[in-house]
Amino acid sequence: MASITRALRPLSRTVTSLRPVATRPLTSRLAQSSAHAFSTTCRRRDADLANLSPTPITHLSETESLMAETVSKFAQEQIGPKVRDMDELETMDPALVEQLFEQGLMGIEIPEEYGGAGMNFTSAIVAIEELARVDPSVSVLVDVHNTLVNTAFIKYGDAQTQRTWLPKLATGTVGSFCLSEPISGSDAFALQTKAEKTADGYKLNGSKMWITNSMEAGIFIVFANLDPSKGYKGITAFIVEKDTPGFSIAKKEKKLGIRASSTCVLNFDDVVIPKANLLGREGQGYKYAIGLLNEGRIGIAAQMTGLALGAWENAAQ
Ligand SMILES: Cc1cc2nc3c(=O)[nH]c(=O)nc-3n(C[C@H](O)[C@H](O)[C@H](O)COP(=O)(O)OP(=O)(O)OC[C@H]3O[C@@H](n4cnc5c(N)ncnc54)[C@H](O)[C@@H]3O)c2cc1C
Repeated sequence: MASITRALRPLSRTVTSLRPVATRPLTSRLAQSSAHAFSTTCRRRDADLANLSPTPITHLSETESLMAETVSKFAQEQIGPKVRDMDELETMDPALVEQLFEQGLMGIEIPEEYGGAGMNFTSAIVAIEELARVDPSVSVLVDVHNTLVNTAFIKYGDAQTQRTWLPKLATGTVGSFCLSEPISGSDAFALQTKAEKTADGYKLNGSKMWITNSMEAGIFIVFANLDPSKGYKGITAFIVEKDTPGFSIAKKEKKLGIRASSTCVLNFDDVVIPKANLLGREGQGYKYAIGLLNEGRIGIAAQMTGLALGAWENAAQ
């Protein structure tokens, strides 16, 4: 099967020419083309939107509508037959994860130069909603990977960090976002995981809880406090690879719903990582977490609306 996002790429690039825009003023055209580009990862972020009124969020561009249609078809045909088994086995089918990468659904906003689809935030959101309509577990895997992990690298990674990690995240390695801890959920900045500097990098110690994608992921963004004397201003984001010594998956939660999605406790015992695995700047992790969760929450909302639609459709059948 051809990649969904690759099939949509030419459309995405020429999207403004596909609309009946010729007779409309430039501001209107810009509003049209930028209306769904409010994601801070969008390359149009330098556009001056001050005097433009956004189109309603109920309006999807042609590319976004096609994204919804093609993801819906993919979900019904390829995911649908696996939903019950994956739920009962509490396992995500690895072959399906591979298919998600092949379809370009794991690098929706990653620029094409790094192997991603170079599409906008709304495209990611409609994909998450359509996936949830068939399987909210698959949807949350795609959501966390795209809206939290990929976005973190796109927004806060320097050029070298992006070159190193984005091609992996776009083509074959699942990502995980590790903020919550046993005593810090809503109060995320009370996190206790510590980081200390070593001669060549950093050493992490602590635990994380309820971490989505733990079983499938190869790359983990871990928030830890590098300088507790500064309170939350010591919180820093680090990149940890799955096989790093001292890093372990301690427990997989047994959940009532989205059971194919893994949610685990993670332990970090003297996990040593190189300097290059600092994501962004030291002490800026709290700002990154807030910014990322703003987008992540929209993704979870899309997962919920998709779930509700799917439940209604199934009940009506
Ligand atoms: C399925 C699942 C997947 C998850 N995946 C991840 C993940 O990938 N990465 C990650 O980092 N975390 C993840 N989490 C953790 C999630 O972010 C936390 O559950 C969330 O932050 C809430 O924290 P908590 O569960 O400790 O609830 P609490 O913070 O204890 O909140 C419990 C209740 O108290 C309310 N409350 C809290 N504080 C206040 C207050 N000050 N005033 C009034 N009311 C308040 C809350 O609204 C809530 O209703 C996941 C959780 C679940 C259930």
